[in-house]
Amino acid sequence: MSSIFKKIIDKEIPADIVYEDEHCMAFKDIQPRKKVHLLVIPKKEILSLADLTPEDQALMGHVMMKVTEVAESAGLKNSGYRVITNIGQHGGQEVPHLHFHILGGEPVGPIVY
Ligand code: 5GP
Repeated sequence: MSSIFKKIIDKEIPADIVYEDEHCMAFKDIQPRKKVHLLVIPKKEILSLADLTPEDQALMGHVMMKVTEVAESAGLKNSGYRVITNIGQHGGQEVPHLHFHILGGEPVGPIVY
């Protein structure tokens, strides 16, 4: 089933898009938890990191390169930042479309387990 992110990909609902190419997209989180809170997603509808198949290998290489490029474009390279992906119910995943959170612009604090 398609998620809200599919609607963003299809431009059916607006998002503050900071990067887009044929394979992926990056946009600002609607409810930022830090000064900089971006989401990077593949355009392919993949549920989560746990749902990759071997055919996604090249795509994921591309997406991970874009995560670092987007973070750098947001001015985070020198200060550092955190990249998170949540998987499933216990992982706290709310949107069922693979996405990488980029959090920074201020100290993000310890990981809360
Ligand atoms: P998750 O909890 O699934 O790892 O993270 C989903 C993220 O998507 C949340 O941080 C939430 O604020 C964000 N989000 C949910 N719906 C929308 C939306 O319609 N637009 C944008 N830009 N972000 C969204």
